[in-house]
Amino acid sequence: MSKVVILGAGVSGLTSALCLLEKFPDKILDLQIVASEWMGDYHAHDFTSPWAGANWASFAEINELDQINRDKDAYLEFERLAATDPASGVKPYMLKFGILKDRDLPWYIQQKFVKKIKIMSEEELRFRNLDPSLYHGVEFQSFTVTPGVYNAYLLTKIRRLGGKVKRVPRLDVITDLVPILGYVPDLVVNATGVNAGKLLRHEEPDELKKVYPVKGQILQIYEDLPHQVMVETLPEELNGKSYQFLNIFPRAEGGCIIGGIMAKGDWSRTVDTELSESILEVCRYHVPELKSTTVYNSYAALRPGREGGVRIELSEYQLKGRSGSLKVIHNYGIGGAGYQSSYGSARQVCDLASQVFDSKKTMAKL
Ligand SMILES: Cc1cc2nc3c(=O)[nH]c(=O)nc-3n(C[C@H](O)[C@H](O)[C@H](O)COP(=O)(O)OP(=O)(O)OC[C@H]3O[C@@H](n4cnc5c(N)ncnc54)[C@H](O)[C@@H]3O)c2cc1C
Repeated sequence: MSKVVILGAGVSGLTSALCLLEKFPDKILDLQIVASEWMGDYHAHDFTSPWAGANWASFAEINELDQINRDKDAYLEFERLAATDPASGVKPYMLKFGILKDRDLPWYIQQKFVKKIKIMSEEELRFRNLDPSLYHGVEFQSFTVTPGVYNAYLLTKIRRLGGKVKRVPRLDVITDLVPILGYVPDLVVNATGVNAGKLLRHEEPDELKKVYPVKGQILQIYEDLPHQVMVETLPEELNGKSYQFLNIFPRAEGGCIIGGIMAKGDWSRTVDTELSESILEVCRYHVPELKSTTVYNSYAALRPGREGGVRIELSEYQLKGRSGSLKVIHNYGIGGAGYQSSYGSARQVCDLASQVFDSKKTMAKL
């Protein structure tokens, strides 16, 4: 039986914890989630999970099979949760998606993976101020997740399965876990988001260069909308920033979030008020059915980007000044897709954990 520690209580850490507890009840003696920030904390914009949109609209390119599989797993799980457990905070909505004609349709439309696919009519494109000679549009069933509700729901399930929780100050490096715990766990899952590079800077200096923030800026409004709308590349007449796009997602409890931007490498927390005006203008232009937009909150937060994409990999680090090593499965660097690929990433964590548990069994027999 193994002692497992999950470092990080965002959606990546929580989903990994839940899947491990569900899959290995006979192999896990003790599972503890250790993190400096928890759901309900809104003081840190580099703790990303509370700030997400969050919808399902896979970013994977058609040849990125691993990412496609991760996103497929989460779509199917969100579909199940939305149908069976509204308390999860996951709700189905149709997504109306305007895409430039010179871009391929997303893999999930080409492969007919998502449900209720429709091609947007030229009339609707014109209604949305999208020139049909430049844009095509698709609709399909997506989901919106309310982060606070959903992550609390995951945590409740984890605790029912015996998972424990512990708040700690921010660790400087990953091996600091050992003195904090007072023992060497059999397995650590590193789900520390945009801070993972800093935590690994001694063991793997390259990761410090690879992990980067992708800043987002969001407005929250009181008004409801019966569907989501996304426009990937904004028409020139809107004079938006090069990294600006439109997404508007209604949420289960009412109101919508509106974004946004993808500003790579920007660690700042400032909300740009001029940009907020532009985000609203873009929204009114493409979502004319929204008669008013009463903003009650605006914020900026950081997506955990990584060169090469999410890292789901097993590493082993020697511990200085004591015998033994730390086995770590990484699950960080998922960028803007942490919710929409959460179950697929957690499935891969479980596959690697199975190897660790099996090797422990083999060692015990020797
Ligand atoms: C504006 C915006 C919109 C988004 N929209 C979507 C969307 O529509 N769909 C979607 O799928 N995703 C979306 N995302 C992305 C999604 O939010 C992230 O991919 C996801 O939240 C990352 O979760 P995580 O668990 O990996 O990291 P985090 O949520 O950042 O969690 C990291 C955890 O590690 C802990 N930690 C970090 N460093 C340390 C340390 N040194 N010591 C101790 N603990 C530490 C933190 O306290 C925290 O508990 C959006 C993000 C933003 C900002």
